[in-house]
Amino acid sequence: VPAGKEGYYIGIDLGGTWTKVGLSDSSGCLLARHEVLTEGYRGPGYIVGEISKKLLALVEEKEISGSSLLGVGVGSPGPLDIDSGTILKTPNLGWEDVPLRDILSGAVGLQVALDNDANAAALGEWWKGAGAGSRSLVCFTLGTGVGGGIVIDGEIWHGSGGVAGELGHMTIEVNGRRCNCGNSGCLEAYASATAISERAREGLKGCDSGLSRAVGGDLDKITSEIVYRQAVEGDPFCRRVIADTAVYLAVGIANMLNILNPEVVVIGGGVTQAGRLLFDPLLEEVGKRAFPSALRGTSIVPAGLGNDAGMVGAVGLIKKEVEGELGP
Ligand SMILES: [Zn+2]
Repeated sequence: VPAGKEGYYIGIDLGGTWTKVGLSDSSGCLLARHEVLTEGYRGPGYIVGEISKKLLALVEEKEISGSSLLGVGVGSPGPLDIDSGTILKTPNLGWEDVPLRDILSGAVGLQVALDNDANAAALGEWWKGAGAGSRSLVCFTLGTGVGGGIVIDGEIWHGSGGVAGELGHMTIEVNGRRCNCGNSGCLEAYASATAISERAREGLKGCDSGLSRAVGGDLDKITSEIVYRQAVEGDPFCRRVIADTAVYLAVGIANMLNILNPEVVVIGGGVTQAGRLLFDPLLEEVGKRAFPSALRGTSIVPAGLGNDAGMVGAVGLIKKEVEGELGP
C-alpha cells in the first residue's frame, strides 16, 4: 500500500449454498458484509455477476472510493489448481474446470487471489482468530464435511500438488465407515456434521432418548444441531455421541501433533457449540495419544472467527499477494 493511501480489500467465501462478500480494511477488519445465494447450477457467470453487484454496493455503503480497493480474495470449494486459479471438479457447485480467478478479475478489474475454503479459513484463524500471534496452526472445520488447513510460519502449506491439508481424509479407523472420497475410515466419516447425525440415527434404534422425542420419533429429522442441543440439555445418549466424536477428532489431532507439532490447533464448526462436552473428552484422549512434548505448548481451542473465518482468510490471501506480508 502506498504510504498515506487508505486501502481496502474484498474477501469472498464462496459456498455451495451461500456466498459471503465482505469489505475489509487493510488490517483484516471486516467493515460490512453481504450474502447472496450461490445457485451454482446457473454457472459461474451468474455468481460472478452477483459478486460484482455486492462489491459495488459495499463501496457505496461505506462511501469509499473504488480506486482504494486493492484486490479480492476468494475461498472456494475445491479441488483447485492453485497456480492457474482454476476450480477443477466441484460437486458442490456442479462446475468443472472454471478459471474463476481470471473470470472474476476480468469482471471487477482487480487482482484476485484464490484458494480453497478450508485453507482460507485456516489462514483467517491464524491471522485474526484463535491462532493470532502464533507461528504455526492446524485448523479442523467440522461442517458438512471436515475441512482442514495447515499454516506454517504464516504460509498455507499446499504440498507439491496443492492437495495438502485434507485433514478430514486421514484414516482414523482401518476398516471404518465409508467416506464420500471412496476411502474408508476417514475422520470425515465420523466427525462431520453429516456423520454425527448418521451415527446418532444408527445408535438410537430401539433406544429411548430425548433425541427421539425431539424429532417426534422421525429419525430422518435428526440433525447434528439437534444432537448438540440435546447433549447440552443433558441427554445421556447425545452426550455419548458427542464424546465419541471427541475421541475420533482427538485421534486426528494427536496424529497432527506428532507429525507437525503446531503451536495452535483450531476446531471450528457447529459441534464446538457443545463446549466442554466436546473439549473435555477430546483433551483427555489427545493426552493419551500425543507425545507429551508435542502436546506441551500447544493450545487446542475453538475457532475465534465463526462464520467470518473464510472471508477474513480470503482477505489475507489477497493482502499477502498485494503487500507481500500480512502483519499482525
Ligand atoms: Zn475421505
